[in-house]
Amino acid sequence: MIIEDARLDEIREFLPEWLERSRQEAAAGEVASYIPELSKAPREALGIHLLDKHGDSASAGDCGMAFTLQSISKVFTLILALMDNGEDAVFERVGMEPTGDNFNSMLKLELVRPGIPFNPLINAGAITVSSLIRGSTPEEKSARILEFFRKLSGGSPLEVNEAVYRSEFETGNLNRSIGYFLVENGVLNDSVEDVLSVYFRHCSIEATCRDLARMALVLAGDGTDPLSSEKLIPRRYVQIAKTFMITCGMYNASGEFAIKAGLPAKSGVSGGILTFVPGALGIGVVGPALNAKGNSSAGVHLLERLSQRMDWSLF
Ligand code: GLU
Repeated sequence: MIIEDARLDEIREFLPEWLERSRQEAAAGEVASYIPELSKAPREALGIHLLDKHGDSASAGDCGMAFTLQSISKVFTLILALMDNGEDAVFERVGMEPTGDNFNSMLKLELVRPGIPFNPLINAGAITVSSLIRGSTPEEKSARILEFFRKLSGGSPLEVNEAVYRSEFETGNLNRSIGYFLVENGVLNDSVEDVLSVYFRHCSIEATCRDLARMALVLAGDGTDPLSSEKLIPRRYVQIAKTFMITCGMYNASGEFAIKAGLPAKSGVSGGILTFVPGALGIGVVGPALNAKGNSSAGVHLLERLSQRMDWSLF
């Protein structure tokens, strides 16, 4: 499917009204609180930014609100790890299959042999991927990640939200357990605290919907930034990331989102969703109240309706 015109004019006409309708869905959700700092996010917030390959945009709601990327960052650390190590080295340590379990589950690590994480988007997989980022110290790895993310966002001065980072570092005992389990299984060779500091830092990078849309636009362009024509990611690695986004990007609602919206997407516990229409549009959404599957309640509602109305589904 090649979309020449993303029809932003048409979208601009109904978007504010549709956003307000979707905002009502926030009432059915809960803001994540297991990382204490995240519980401060406004429950009713909802914002969206859409950016096309010519640089035209449409936005509505709380699109200027900053939030942390959380699991959305896992897509891009996977890409950086692939660029640093190649496919074979990454998939020796991380699998390619959805789990059907919670994002922070340790269950399958014990049940299957070899005990490598099922995929790079669950915590065990993303923690392993963090360890594969090139750099001789955690600081160097984190600096390379931040630099890569800034480049993908078109030079936005992205920073780590230190309060969220500390909050997660202090309370992240489940991720610590996963880390030690991975060391025991021979999947991680580095110090758990060092790997987790890299992992927690990239989860705590703060962005807006506009930044998300800009990063997504590079994926929509198969790794080439349509606005600068710069090749930032090899096409093959976008293909891999895109496939994981379809099969496990929306936690255990990935199948449902593929059926209802039909777009590659990745959500995070802060309520962000990054998605894109290949060849046409990058999209960033935030709505902190999460549904029972852990995705932004209002954000999913808005994206599913938008995709159906604009006939964006890839399937
Ligand atoms: N930093 C979060 C954690 O590891 C990311 C979770 C998410 O957004 O899915 O718990």
